[in-house]
Amino acid sequence: MKLVTVVGARPQFIKAAVGSRVLRKEHQEILVHTGQHHDANMSDVFFAEMDIPRPDYNLGIAGGTHGSMTGKMLMAIEEILLQEKPDALLVYGDTNSTMAAALAAVKLHIPVIHVESGNRFHTLESPEEVNRIVTDHVSTLRFACTRSALESLCKEDLAENSYLVGDPMFDAFLYYSRKAETAGFGDVRDLEGSSVQVPREFYYMTCHRQENTDDPEKLRQILMAMNRLDAPTIYPVHPRNHRTVQQLKQENAFGNILFVEPVGYLSSIGFVRQAKKIVTDSGGVQREAFFAGKKCITVLDFEVWPETIRDGRNVLAKPCCEEILTKLGQEQHIDPAYQPFGDGHSAEKMCRIIHSCFEV
Ligand code: UDP
Repeated sequence: MKLVTVVGARPQFIKAAVGSRVLRKEHQEILVHTGQHHDANMSDVFFAEMDIPRPDYNLGIAGGTHGSMTGKMLMAIEEILLQEKPDALLVYGDTNSTMAAALAAVKLHIPVIHVESGNRFHTLESPEEVNRIVTDHVSTLRFACTRSALESLCKEDLAENSYLVGDPMFDAFLYYSRKAETAGFGDVRDLEGSSVQVPREFYYMTCHRQENTDDPEKLRQILMAMNRLDAPTIYPVHPRNHRTVQQLKQENAFGNILFVEPVGYLSSIGFVRQAKKIVTDSGGVQREAFFAGKKCITVLDFEVWPETIRDGRNVLAKPCCEEILTKLGQEQHIDPAYQPFGDGHSAEKMCRIIHSCFEV
């Protein structure tokens, strides 16, 4: 069977690392990189350290409004699909690359396979929610990471051809943790390009969603909280927040925060595993905190991964300094037996289901 897989953003490279390794044992895969994330430390480093196959096509489409980016991707992917004539298209997650590829394929009557299907924020103000809903509803085959995601699909009348397989991010976390242990933290650089010494004790923070960073005051509140903690915070700054962070840094009020360039996956999961606690608005990092048995504060108004919230293991907070500090101080309970993200073999399960559904 011939598959075209479309990726474009950091979390998709991570999922494709586990997906491609398994799928390519049985199927022909053409990999398309839209270019949505293109900096060396947002893209190349993942392909190199996770052994992701080289993309067959690189579209170089990044930036601009959601509409223009999605439109350009749709046109370019349509051309590739017409040329490659795959049996199915495979997409991960919820970015503009995901939705553009799904729309291009469904209009050409090419079946769409959506991995990480069914997650819902329950607000159309989130651009990712729009991408998820559209992609799920035009997909032929949907793979949910968790029971709650599968239930959301059932509520939307999408039970047929929807399967609970577990979370490829958990597959990746288990597989690459061994590598991360031996790799160490690598060469961590500050925003001026100088090498940074990683402290013995630290908190790990990632924060890049537009809900928290479009308004600099919200990001200031989060940084103020981190600055008051009993150990430094390592904060890799996403390219979309560079300018805001540089402005806030001028205030010279955040001496306890190490602002660094985005790090590779092995360093990032190394930080998750060794941090005292984690503060994030990333869907991936809050799950990784869960996988590593760490307390996490998610700075968002809505539950993204409800399974992580159980027992206060992951706590939601508004972008408010006092609230974040209060929540960081609260008790947490971690039940090591509770594992709602599968068994680390979601890619193998997906591959078997693809095989039986397409009768290859
Ligand atoms: N991550 C990384 N380097 C960083 C920050 C995050 O490799 O500097 C990893 C992180 O460990 C997780 C993934 O990127 O695996 C999450 O991606 P992101 O936060 O961009 O997207 P989201 O999960 O919110 O969709």
